[in-house]
Amino acid sequence: NQVSPFVNEPFTDFTIDTNKQAMQTALAAVKKELGQQYPLYIGSKQILTEEQITSINPGNVNEVVGYVSKATQPLAEQAMQEALRTFETWKNVSPAERAGYLFRAADVMRQRKHEFSALLVYEAGKNWAEADADTAEAIDFMEFYAREMIRLSETNIHHPLTKIEGENNQITYIPLGVGIIISPFNFPLAIMAGTTVAAIVSGNTVILKPADSTPVIAAKFVQLMKEVGLPAGVLNFIPGNGAEIGEYLVEHPKTRFISFTGSREVGCRIYERASKVQPDQIWLKRVIAEMGGKDGVVVDETADLDAAAAAIVASAFGFQGQKCSAGSRVIIVASVYDEVVAKVIELTKKLQVGLPENNAPIGPVIDQKSLDKILKYIEIGKKEGKLLVGGSRAEGNGFYIEPTVFVDVDPKARIMQEEVFGPVLAIAKVANWKTAIEVYNDTDYGLTGAYFSQNEERIAYTLENMHCGNLYINKKCTGALVGAHPFGGFNMSGTDSKAGGYDYLLLFTQAKLTSRKI
Ligand code: GLU
Repeated sequence: NQVSPFVNEPFTDFTIDTNKQAMQTALAAVKKELGQQYPLYIGSKQILTEEQITSINPGNVNEVVGYVSKATQPLAEQAMQEALRTFETWKNVSPAERAGYLFRAADVMRQRKHEFSALLVYEAGKNWAEADADTAEAIDFMEFYAREMIRLSETNIHHPLTKIEGENNQITYIPLGVGIIISPFNFPLAIMAGTTVAAIVSGNTVILKPADSTPVIAAKFVQLMKEVGLPAGVLNFIPGNGAEIGEYLVEHPKTRFISFTGSREVGCRIYERASKVQPDQIWLKRVIAEMGGKDGVVVDETADLDAAAAAIVASAFGFQGQKCSAGSRVIIVASVYDEVVAKVIELTKKLQVGLPENNAPIGPVIDQKSLDKILKYIEIGKKEGKLLVGGSRAEGNGFYIEPTVFVDVDPKARIMQEEVFGPVLAIAKVANWKTAIEVYNDTDYGLTGAYFSQNEERIAYTLENMHCGNLYINKKCTGALVGAHPFGGFNMSGTDSKAGGYDYLLLFTQAKLTSRKI
């Protein structure tokens, strides 16, 4: 039975009345279910713990989204034992059968799409389009990695071997073992599900620790995988404190790999801890780390300035700038600087801040800690540049911040160099396009970038010389599509794992060569 070619899940057009109504119905239905309790999943057991994580709506902080059980070290150890035991059987399940669970889960999620998106609106503070894109990407990851595993398992198709007379040579991609998945709040469905299913479909068993601020959507996803019949113990779910259970599992001698998406600080710490070989450990752990970015949009004087301004605003303020792909700095050639800045300011001023469930373009940031950090950076920005719009908290019963733009910022300034992860944009003026590329490259990171120009020679130069994992020409620098724009970055942005790409599953497998005399 042939599998159809992969296609991306379409985004929902909420200007169409029936779609709008469907989303409103889902929001109302999900609202009624807020405040429930969610268990840990360890092997076949569902465990409700006494201590729980309270997940709140960042846009309306009195609203509890759910109470999620919280693991301790002994429970993390139980999860490890279950994952180890289950690996012994799961690794022998055929790739096609493993892929089948992903196909079924993708089907169910597609049918219940707005329900998942509505929960993202409440728990992560996403507007409808951002939530819909998150759910669509989760579906894409399942559809894509399921196909990838099937492709990888077709002997010698992925990796044709040189023919040697008298020999039958084959290469197979076998799983690694138990993986720890540590997922972020900003794509709490897509990245959480994508990193989890990639590991599972490759034949590994996993322990999933979702972000503290978005555990309910993760619990819903784990429940979905159970519903489609994923055997118990393949996916163990233990929300909890990073310092307590995250570190314990990272250092565990039986951990085979860690797939982390989150901050540079935590990623570097995991990388360091995982590199230490523990007593009784018989492998070198793999670390897949997707960390931060200080991504930039470059505009030269030949560019379509309206398109550039629109892309700058979308890249900077989509999901309140809480994307590692966010275009949080802009570098503009002097001769068009004032014009582009004026257009950016005009578009930014139109962005209304408000409640995600009402589909306001700009919602809250995720929590108090983020709010404090972003406001601190705004104060730094006030000393480093000229504030043209925003610069304060915005009204509302949540963590709202005005979209903020600083201009005339020195390329070496902190707000041009450090990741803010909030709705704060820094703009610098440079003499010419080549200097702009140099300024763009002057960063510790290297995740996404965009170049706006109509000059073919410069574009050719830029394609080779802008140093980042995802480079976009005359397009915004966010919104990578599974299969089309494999995603991951250079330098301190991480291990360039290229999620949603054709090499991704190799990270979760090891290649075994067999050579038989015939
Ligand atoms: N893949 C997302 C994008 O292209 C960003 C992922 C992230 O922020 O972690 O916008």
